[in-house]
Amino acid sequence: MSIKENLEGILRDLPEQVALVAVSKTKPASDLMEAYDAGQRIFGENKIQEMTQKWEALPKDIQWHMIGHVQRNKVKHMAEFVALVHGVDSFRLLREVDKQAQKHHRVIDCLLQIHIAEEDTKFGLDELDLNDIVSSEEFQQLKHVRVVGLMGMATFTDDRVQIRREFKSLKSLFDGLKSKIPDVSILSMGMSGDYKMAIEEGSTMVRIGSSIFGARNYH
Ligand SMILES: *Cc1c(COP(=O)(O)O)cnc(C)c1O
Repeated sequence: MSIKENLEGILRDLPEQVALVAVSKTKPASDLMEAYDAGQRIFGENKIQEMTQKWEALPKDIQWHMIGHVQRNKVKHMAEFVALVHGVDSFRLLREVDKQAQKHHRVIDCLLQIHIAEEDTKFGLDELDLNDIVSSEEFQQLKHVRVVGLMGMATFTDDRVQIRREFKSLKSLFDGLKSKIPDVSILSMGMSGDYKMAIEEGSTMVRIGSSIFGARNYH
């Protein structure tokens, strides 16, 4: 099936309130253009350098989402254009995004990444870290970032029961945060293998790569 057909098939499945991030990491600009021509405008990348090159080459109405782990010293390269940073996993990183956004007179939307996986390989904050950040005085004073929600990745496993449990725990943190911060409306959870379940559990934004663009080839 073509990229366009894959995309249309997924969009048919998505409820209206769920946004689709087309995860285009490692894929050539021509693949992104095929999705773009089919109407897709939100693309997700996990490397700042690759995202910046694609931003320079591709139409300017694309919204670029940084979905990967972010190194603080690279934030400056994307501050001019990034639309949403999914992987904010420390206060130091949030502060850096704020600082670089200010240089471009922007307010950058961010998601705080929560560690929901039972495996310990993935980045993210736990519930205590999250509460510490959002209740701190310094957080209230950051004028160039806007925390609009949470992001999480489930454990890489075939155990659907475990994945569902992890999604439920993220949804519950999301509901708690929403009641405290009015800007919070995005729950980024679900990838190619688990997005239907993620939507059942309350996701409002799915990040789908291989089901749109095909398997990735890492050299
Ligand atoms: C690569 C990636 C995805 C997409 O994964 P697929 O299984 O190809 O859909 C989603 N989220 C993050 C954070 C990723 O790095």
